[in-house]
Amino acid sequence: MSKAERACLVCGIVQTFNEFVARGCPNCDSLLSLQHSDEGVHAATSPSFEGLVAMAGPEQSWVAKWLRIDGFQPGTYAVKVNGRLPDEIVRSLDEQGVRYRPRDGSRVE
Ligand SMILES: [Zn+2]
Repeated sequence: MSKAERACLVCGIVQTFNEFVARGCPNCDSLLSLQHSDEGVHAATSPSFEGLVAMAGPEQSWVAKWLRIDGFQPGTYAVKVNGRLPDEIVRSLDEQGVRYRPRDGSRVE
């Protein structure tokens, strides 16, 4: 267990490792099932991220639109998250109808 902060590779929200294990990801947990899973949190979050943005009301913020986190929970988000989801999780998201968009800046839209 650790209090180190990590960012979700799918939505970019930043929480401590302990928070991810205790509560899961407030946006993605229905997809990722991180709650109570040390392994899951290690796989789906990254300790390497940049550019923190505090989001009070995602639906109204241009930053939220820019970060593509429209409709997500208020919280602290990383602009860039380094690392990639394991293929296994990408496939599982795919099966649930969610296309994974890496947040590491490797993809320009
Ligand atoms: Zn997430």
